[in-house]
Amino acid sequence: MDINRVSARDVDKQHYELVVIGSGFGSSFFLTEALKHISGRVLIIEWGDFYPWAWQIETQASSLIKPEATYSNQGEKPWNTTIALGGGTNCWYSQTPRLHPSDFATKSLYGIGNDWPISYEDLEPYYCQAEQIMSISGDPDMARILPRSQPFPQRPHKGSSVDELMKASMPDHHFIMPTARARVATENRSACCANFTCNLCPVNAKFTAQNGLAELYSHPQVDVCLKTEVKSLEYEGSTIKSARIETDGREYEVFGDMFVLGANAIQSPAILLRSDLAYGETGMGLHEQVGADVEVYLDGLGNFDGSTITTGLNYFFYDGDFRRERSACLVYFENRWPYGMRPEKGRWNEVLPLMLVTEDLPNLDNRVTVDSQTGQAVINYHGESEYAKKGVEHALANLDQLLAALPVESIHLRNWRLTESHVQGTLRMGIEGDGSVVDDHMLHHRMRNLMVVGTSTYPSCSPANPSLTAAALSIRAADLLYS
Ligand SMILES: Cc1cc2nc3c(=O)[nH]c(=O)nc-3n(C[C@H](O)[C@H](O)[C@H](O)COP(=O)(O)OP(=O)(O)OC[C@H]3O[C@@H](n4cnc5c(N)ncnc54)[C@H](O)[C@@H]3O)c2cc1C
Ligand code: SF4
Repeated sequence: MDINRVSARDVDKQHYELVVIGSGFGSSFFLTEALKHISGRVLIIEWGDFYPWAWQIETQASSLIKPEATYSNQGEKPWNTTIALGGGTNCWYSQTPRLHPSDFATKSLYGIGNDWPISYEDLEPYYCQAEQIMSISGDPDMARILPRSQPFPQRPHKGSSVDELMKASMPDHHFIMPTARARVATENRSACCANFTCNLCPVNAKFTAQNGLAELYSHPQVDVCLKTEVKSLEYEGSTIKSARIETDGREYEVFGDMFVLGANAIQSPAILLRSDLAYGETGMGLHEQVGADVEVYLDGLGNFDGSTITTGLNYFFYDGDFRRERSACLVYFENRWPYGMRPEKGRWNEVLPLMLVTEDLPNLDNRVTVDSQTGQAVINYHGESEYAKKGVEHALANLDQLLAALPVESIHLRNWRLTESHVQGTLRMGIEGDGSVVDDHMLHHRMRNLMVVGTSTYPSCSPANPSLTAAALSIRAADLLYS
C-alpha cells in the first residue's frame, strides 16, 4: 500500500487546511467525505505504525503497541483498542448492525440515559453511504424494524438451519447478521469462508482501512505522519491553533485551520484534558455493552451450516416500555463453537452458542482522567449498572420463549463477558449546557474549529456494535461542514 509518509520533523511549524488526529473509523470516514470538498492540504497524525495485513497474519497481532501500554487502568475490566494506521478497522470482527431508532431517544421515550441530538432519520442516508463503502452484506427483511432508503450492497450471508427456523417463527425479530465480512468477493476482498478468527482474517474477507480506504493515504493532498503521538492542542479564544506532537521523545508543533479529533474514547479526552480543555463532561461517562455467553443444547437439530461467524441477530428482547426498568438486549446467534462440539456420538453439531448483549447506562464516575505527573490517560471504571445486568438476567430467564421454535434440550450460562471491546462515551454529543462536549454537527461547543469523531461522542450505549454508526456520523459531519 502506498502511503505519503512524512516525519514529525518534516511537518514541524507547517500549516495544513485540515489536521486529522488518528486514522480509525471516525477519522478515516470523515476524510473520505472531506476530500470531496476541500482543495488544501491534509495531515493525518497517527500514533501507531502501518502494519500490512500479511504482517498481521504472520505475527498474529494488529500492532506492536499494546493498548494497556497507552493508559493506566485502575480497574480490572480490559479496554481494547488498536494503535495503528486504520485503528480499530484492523482488529474488528465487522459486525455492523445500525442502532435502533429508539436508541437515539431513550431519555424522552423511557426516562433513562441521554438523548442523541440527532435522530435515526437524520443519520439514515449516511448509514447507506457507510454501508456502501464497506460493501455490507445484510438481510433486506431487517428494514421492518430499521427502515432503509437503499438496499444492502451485498446479499445476506447464508443463515444456519437454526436461523431458518427462527426467521420463520419470528419474521419481525430474527434477521441474518449485517456484516462487513464479504458474502461475495470484491475487487480487494475475498469471500468470507467462516473460519472464525475475524480479528485477524486470514483470507482478507472483512473490510479494513487497508483493503477499503487505501486511496486516502496516497491521495495527492494528504500527508501521513506515523509513529507520532498528539500530546495536546494549543488554542486562542475559541480557535485551535496547533497540535503538539511527539515522536522518539522529541516534541514538534503543527498548525491548521480545522482539526479533527479521532483518537479513541480513552485518548481523545486525554488530549483535551492535557490541553486544559475540560469543557462539559469531558472524560466522563466511559461505557460499553454488558454481555453473557450461553450454550443451548439442541435435540436432533444441527447448527454450524451458515456462511460466517455470526449468522443471526434477534431483537425479541430489544425495545419497549420495559426499558424504563431494564436494558434492551440483542441476541447474537453464533455459527462457531467457543466451547467445542458436543461429545455424544453423532450429535457434535446439536449445539447453539448465543451471545446476550445489553446496553449500559453511562455513569459520570466511570471516567478518563490524566496523570498529573506523566500526562498519561488514566481509566477509572467502577463497574456496570444494575440496569444493564437486569436486561441480561431477564433474557436468560426467558430464553425458552425466544427459542420456542427450536428443539431445546438444555440451556447453559457459560460466563459473563469481560468486555465487548467497544470503548464509548467520554466526549458526548448534545445540546450546549447539558454537560455534553460536542454539538449535533460534532463540533466542540467551545472550540469551533475542532470536530470530534468516533465512539467517544456517543451519548448513550445501545446494545448494537458501534462502528458502523461512527462511520456514518463522520460522513454526516464532513458533509454538513463542507457542503
Ligand atoms: C477485537 C475487537 C473486535 C471488534 N469488533 C467490532 C465489531 O465487530 N463491530 C463493531 O462495530 N466494532 C467492533 N470493535 C470496536 C471498534 O474497533 C471500535 O468501535 C472503533 O474502532 C472505534 O472507532 P474510533 O474511530 O472511535 O477509534 P479507533 O478506530 O480506535 O481509532 C482511533 C485512532 O486514533 C489513534 N490514536 C490514539 N491516540 C492517539 C494520539 N494521541 N495521537 C495520534 N493518534 C492516536 C489510534 O492509533 C487509532 O488509529 C471491535 C474492537 C476490538 C478490539
Ligand atoms: S469468518 Fe473467517 S473468513 Fe470470515 S471474516 Fe472472519 S476470519 Fe475472515
